[in-house]
Amino acid sequence: GLLLAIESSCDETAAAVVDRSGQVLSSIVASQDELHARFGGVVPEIASRAHLERILPVIDEALKRAGKTLADLNAVAVMTEPGLVGSLLVGVTAAKTLAMVLDVPLVAVNHIHAHLYACRMQAGRDIFPAIGLVVSGGHTNLYDCASAISYTLLGSTIDDAAGEAFDKAAAMLGLPYPGGPWIAKAALTGNPRAYDFPRSFLRDERLAFSFSGLKTAVRYAAFGQPGTLNPPPPLTPERIADLAASFQEAAVDILVAKCRQALKRYGRRSLCIGGGVAANQRLRERLEELARKDRIEIVVAPLSLCTDNAAMGAIAWELLQAGQVSPLDVDVTPGLVRHREGS
Ligand code: ATP
Ligand code: MG
Ligand code: FE
Repeated sequence: GLLLAIESSCDETAAAVVDRSGQVLSSIVASQDELHARFGGVVPEIASRAHLERILPVIDEALKRAGKTLADLNAVAVMTEPGLVGSLLVGVTAAKTLAMVLDVPLVAVNHIHAHLYACRMQAGRDIFPAIGLVVSGGHTNLYDCASAISYTLLGSTIDDAAGEAFDKAAAMLGLPYPGGPWIAKAALTGNPRAYDFPRSFLRDERLAFSFSGLKTAVRYAAFGQPGTLNPPPPLTPERIADLAASFQEAAVDILVAKCRQALKRYGRRSLCIGGGVAANQRLRERLEELARKDRIEIVVAPLSLCTDNAAMGAIAWELLQAGQVSPLDVDVTPGLVRHREGS
């Protein structure tokens, strides 16, 4: 069987063709980063308009690269939650139309669950039960994953998402948008101990995250605290590298510590991590250390499936097998409204 998966939840227009064994025959991602860069965050109206222009060419391209036609499809999957309502509606409308015309099952997929399922795709075998962490631009969520389609939310951020914190810290330091990869790059030549930034909830029992204190600390270290008499020296490339490395180390400390707590508390021996920030090299190193030290198995999503894509919609095969077909009038569930401009 063949599945067409569609993703348009935020600012990537994406389509993929995945076969029943989970093999990705094609995965097309049209990023809108350059459209939103000058606003420093995703502008919803611009995003939905761009999705409308791109969705059909992206689906066409996915089929073409896979060497397939619409008639070859056996199911259509689409991310229906969470995301920007105008963005989600574009992909969902396309998916419903295709499912109806082709008379194949429609499968509604949760985008955050799909980020975790990318780890299952990387492993190529069952990795559940496991603790799951989704670290993306809009979410920092810890889950207990009983199976590939059964995720219980254990905790999340009380303010900024991890990726959002990377993006805002980068903006402060004058680095391009989206800032995560740029912080990582700047950090390569910096000293992670140059600044002792706060690590919220580190010694707290709660499985919760907070990144806004860290963000403010970076701002004060970069530009001085309001009312202080002696402003810090100007932002040289060396200071930017030190600030980036110290920020990244603090963020990674928080993420690794909470995963460890969740693993212990729920008695799991396996951890999976997905979402854009899972692409971070320093986080990956620190997770490898954790795996060795605590003798647990850690599966990180492959780089191609960390940031938004449609291929992770392969979770739809599991949902289909469990009988979870969606009606053709299935609605979108935007969930959290993500306003990420400014800081
Ligand atoms: P959500 O999945 O919560 O709806 P999203 O889809 O916008 O949000 P993703 O595409 O999963 O988020 O991830 C994008 C985020 O990942 C951005 O904040 C980006 O800065 C961050 N990111 C990407 N690469 C890296 C990296 N190497 N290091 C740190 N952060 C990174
Ligand atoms: Mg994006
Ligand atoms: Fe995402």
